[in-house]
Amino acid sequence: MEDLRLLKKAKISAMQGRIVKIRSKQGFLFTYVFLGKDSSKHKDHIVNENYCDCEFFIFNKIYKDKAFCYHILALKIALHREKIITIDVEFNDFLDIIREIRHDGKSLKLRKLIYTT
Ligand SMILES: [Zn+2]
Repeated sequence: MEDLRLLKKAKISAMQGRIVKIRSKQGFLFTYVFLGKDSSKHKDHIVNENYCDCEFFIFNKIYKDKAFCYHILALKIALHREKIITIDVEFNDFLDIIREIRHDGKSLKLRKLIYTT
């Protein structure tokens, strides 16, 4: 059962355009990123329809097989409503973005690309 509160949060996030698809110009590589809010400590997450790198997902989905986190729900809603921003990036930038999210929790490079494209 999907928690209603999570669902609501997911809907808002999807409508705010927090789901970004980054695609490598050189190949078929792509991934979705859930953009955290700039003002808060919320982090960016690497997400797809079955996986998210957040703690909630790891504890609730992988260990207990319970609900998806709201990042994944937001992705599903965004896909359904076509509320996805797609950004084509150089392969090096693609790797940098993933590295920044993994290491710093946020990608400044991705933000720069979003605001300049
Ligand atoms: Zn998540």
